[in-house]
Amino acid sequence: MTDILNIVSNTNYMSRNVKDYLLKQLKKYDFEASTTFSKNALATICIGGDGAFIKAVHRNNFPLVPFVGINTGHLGFYQEINPEEIDEFLRMLKNGDYIIDETLLVGAEVFVKNRRFYLNAINEIILKGQGSKIIHMDVAIDKNHLQTFSGDGIMISTPCGSTGYNYSLGGSIVYPTLHTLQITPMAPINSVAFRSLPSSIIVPGDSVISLRPEKRYENSSLVIVDGMELSYKNLQKINLRVSKKKINRLIFQKNHYWKNLKGKFL
Ligand code: NAP
Repeated sequence: MTDILNIVSNTNYMSRNVKDYLLKQLKKYDFEASTTFSKNALATICIGGDGAFIKAVHRNNFPLVPFVGINTGHLGFYQEINPEEIDEFLRMLKNGDYIIDETLLVGAEVFVKNRRFYLNAINEIILKGQGSKIIHMDVAIDKNHLQTFSGDGIMISTPCGSTGYNYSLGGSIVYPTLHTLQITPMAPINSVAFRSLPSSIIVPGDSVISLRPEKRYENSSLVIVDGMELSYKNLQKINLRVSKKKINRLIFQKNHYWKNLKGKFL
C-alpha cells in the first residue's frame, strides 16, 4: 500500500523549491503526497524553520500523525533534515529506519470569571504584563506558595522549548525526554521594594504551577502561547502542567540532539 505523507510548507523561495523537489522524489519512493492534512498519513513533512513547524502543529490542533521537518529556516532546531539529505531521508522513511519520539507539551487551564479556557504549547506559555508594564503575581507549585513575583512576567517552558525564548532569558537547556517543566522569570525585580527569584526552577512534570495575577492586573495581563498573544478579561488564575496531549516526531539520527545543540548554539 502506498503511504500518504502530508506536506506543509511556508512560502519562502527556498521552501517552494524544496517542496517542488520533494514532490518529485516522493513518486520515486512510492509515497503519495497530501497537501491537505490527512489523519491517515504516515507522517507530516514540514518545510521551513521552527516557526513553520510550530504553526503547523497549532493549525492542525496537535495531531497524532508524527512530524518531521526539512529545514529552510533561520535556525531550525526542530527540523532534522537538510534539503540536500532529502533522498537519504526518503529512503530511510521507506525502510522504517527511524524512531518515533513523543514530544511533551505544556498545558494551561485559564480561569476567567465564570469560564475556563484550555491551551497547549510546544515551546512555552507566558503570563506577562501588557505592553511595557510590570506585573505582580503569586506563583505556587502544587498549592505551595513560592513567591510573589514582580517583573515583566513568568514563562513556563517545555524541555523542547528550553532552547527557545527560555534560553535567551538565561534558563537552562533541558534534554527533551525529561518529564519536567521550567519556570523562568522575565526581568525579575530584586530590590528593597520587591523580591523575586532571579533564576529558573525545573519542576517535576506532575506538578501544577499556578500563576495568579494581583487583582489590579486581571484586565491588563497577556498570555503568550508559542509566540501568539492572547488577552483575557478578568483573568484570575492560570494552572499549568504537562499536557495530556503529546505530539510525535520522527527521529532519524540517534545523536541528532547533541549535534544539533553544538551546531546551532556554539
Ligand atoms: P519566531 O520568529 O518564529 O522564532 C524566533 C526564533 O526562535 C527563530 O530563530 C526560531 O527558529 C527560534 N526557535 C523557535 N523555537 C525554538 C526552539 N524550541 N529551540 C530553539 N530555537 C527556537 O518567533 P515567534 O513567532 O515570536 O515565536 C515562536 C517561538 O520563538 C517562541 O515559542 C519562542 O520560543 C521563540 N522566541 C524567542 C525569543 C527570544 O529568544 N528572545 C523571542 C520571541 C520568541 P527558526 O528561525 O528556525 O524559525
